[in-house]
Amino acid sequence: MSGARAIEEQTSRGGDPLEAAIREIGTELAAAFPSNARHPLRAIDKRAMDLASGDQELKAALFRFVDVTPACRSLDDLARHLREFLREVPEAPPPLAVAMRMADSKAGRRAIGAAAAAGVRHMAHRFIVGETPASAHGVLRDLWNHGVASSVDLLGEATVTQAEADRYAARCDEALGELARISAGWPARDVLERDSVGPIPRTNVSVKISALTPLLRPDAPERGRRDAAERLRPLLRRAEALGAHIHIDMESLDSREAVLDLVLDVLSEEEFVRGPSAGLVLQAYLRDSPEQLERVLEWASASGRTPPLTVRLVKGAYWDHELVQAGQHGWPTPVFEVKAECDRNFETLTRRLLDARPAVRVAIASHNLRSVSHAIAYSRLSGADDRDLELQILRGLGDQLADALAVRGFRVRAYCPIGDLVAGMAYLVRRLLENTSNESFLHEQARGVPIEQLLAAP
Ligand SMILES: Cc1cc2nc3c(=O)[nH]c(=O)nc-3n(C[C@H](O)[C@H](O)[C@H](O)COP(=O)(O)OP(=O)(O)OC[C@H]3O[C@@H](n4cnc5c(N)ncnc54)[C@H](O)[C@@H]3O)c2cc1C
Repeated sequence: MSGARAIEEQTSRGGDPLEAAIREIGTELAAAFPSNARHPLRAIDKRAMDLASGDQELKAALFRFVDVTPACRSLDDLARHLREFLREVPEAPPPLAVAMRMADSKAGRRAIGAAAAAGVRHMAHRFIVGETPASAHGVLRDLWNHGVASSVDLLGEATVTQAEADRYAARCDEALGELARISAGWPARDVLERDSVGPIPRTNVSVKISALTPLLRPDAPERGRRDAAERLRPLLRRAEALGAHIHIDMESLDSREAVLDLVLDVLSEEEFVRGPSAGLVLQAYLRDSPEQLERVLEWASASGRTPPLTVRLVKGAYWDHELVQAGQHGWPTPVFEVKAECDRNFETLTRRLLDARPAVRVAIASHNLRSVSHAIAYSRLSGADDRDLELQILRGLGDQLADALAVRGFRVRAYCPIGDLVAGMAYLVRRLLENTSNESFLHEQARGVPIEQLLAAP
């Protein structure tokens, strides 16, 4: 029976079983969050984020500063930049005012530079698990030992030449090999390695199509698609040989059609209809996402591909970009502009996806306790086993939620970027923006909004 039918039947007997289950699951998960007291570094980050989110000008200055950090040649240079950016903040908070005065002397500048560089590096390490797959091994193994699987994302600069696209593809290929090698020695974890359809790969790599080709242009999508497919096919072959999973990330809307067409076309090719395990991403902040989902589900049912396509449902990371882009061209905004509408759409798509199992595997990627509890509650009400639902978080943003989910026996996967500090800057800035935006769930949670409110229907 679909979840909707089960809920209708129970509702006719009084009450709202879905809302009641969401409240119960959400409250239990919140209680299982590890406390900050046991993680002092997280508490320090939270204070830094509170400071930044309370002051828009300070936030803007800090973002600009984080952006230039990799280009600074010395600590002196770094401190000078910090002072210049902070000068733009009309009323700097007291510790920053002290830093600005210190930056007037060379010794002071060096001290601040060292502190700032360490701060940026510390922040980056919260989100980035290592410079290479080999150096990330310790973190990935610890996650696995704590009941958390991973998907590795290789950070890189924008791909503008064929040589850069070749290099990115080669890095993905190496990562697949390296991760398969190291994960082979990890202990068995049934909950992370099997659902009712069959085995789930330990090695999971997230790939960006825009990094696989320099030719991805909205005005000439065919060229980009063809070029990217040439680099995607060998990666799929390699994943198939290693028993690994390849997940294609979704980026901004101007590449959405090309990415979706490419992935569905390549996975339909005779060579790939029996594997490897693969997936794509659906962005619920897009107003037309319900139609996109129908297209994917039709494909999944018609193709009969095994293992089934994994659909990762996200809200979307390019909200400001889409809004600005549409505004500049005078286009209608493609994204919801009211957060609650986006959240409601996320829940509608969650239910549609969960009802479509086993034609697809479902991964709900969110740090929002309401969105996650809704998925778990609906899945359970429809009679499914918890192992037929995967929950995903971004490393550094959803660690506490991941711990709570793992402790309660859910399959949870952390998205783990790998790369150097320079490559990590764009990623870091995007995550900081998300985390300190006033409407973000994590920001509300950090502000101490009561749990009943956090779990209320959007
Ligand atoms: C494992 C994983 C993989 C991911 N992969 C991708 C990917 O491939 N592509 C991608 O785009 N993103 C991806 N994301 C990022 C994801 O889109 C963001 O984490 C997500 O947007 C944050 O949503 P939330 O549910 O955690 O938090 P919430 O705080 O509940 O939601 C924040 C989101 O709501 C939306 N939003 C904010 N304000 C408004 C508004 N005024 N009106 C309407 N909507 C608004 C935005 O999408 C914003 O990011 C991934 C996330 C995870 C956890």
